[in-house]
Amino acid sequence: MKILIVEDEHKVSRFVERALSEQAYTVGVAGSCAAARDALAESPYDAVVLDLGLPDGDGLDLLREWRASGFNEPVLILSARDAVEDRVRGLNLGADDYLPKPFSVDELVARLRSLLRRQGTAPRATVLEHRGVRLDLLARTVTFNGGEVELTSREFALLELFLQNPRRVLTRTLIAEKIWDASYEMETNLIDVYVRRLRMKFDPAEGEPLIKTVRGSGYQLA
Ligand code: CA
Repeated sequence: MKILIVEDEHKVSRFVERALSEQAYTVGVAGSCAAARDALAESPYDAVVLDLGLPDGDGLDLLREWRASGFNEPVLILSARDAVEDRVRGLNLGADDYLPKPFSVDELVARLRSLLRRQGTAPRATVLEHRGVRLDLLARTVTFNGGEVELTSREFALLELFLQNPRRVLTRTLIAEKIWDASYEMETNLIDVYVRRLRMKFDPAEGEPLIKTVRGSGYQLA
């Protein structure tokens, strides 16, 4: 199995290269978009580990080019950009997984192995469903009991966050970090406003509201 690492930080690429070589993968390294284009044109790879911030461009542009040209092998994005919207963009453009930096190299190896195993078998989940809500990550559409629902991009990201974490209590701090990329004290009642909007748009005729308040902690998908 041959894996291409596209990463401009030598320390990171050497570290990943060593870990993958230890697992008996053959590894190629490209430090720029141009080098990555050349590497993939020269020889076939079974998977790509892709950094986004590259000296001569954006990794997402590379990904878009590759998918448009029919390169179908797994791509795992490795990036310091950790907002939900960035992840959604990467997945929309055809990435198979997304690991935020800083990362554990063991987790990277495990995820790559699972991507390579999955390749060619099950289609990947791009639709999230829960109690009549259906969110399509590729088409970026949401329906509720079959009817289309209009969402702003923040509402979409917030709904996705809940659907991706069905049993988890999401604290306001976590929601602020994931959806607003807030490293500062934000008005947490903004989150309450957004949750209220989602509840109004997805109001089940019976049973609990879709997003329930966990007093003193945050919110949970119900
Ligand atoms: Ca970089």
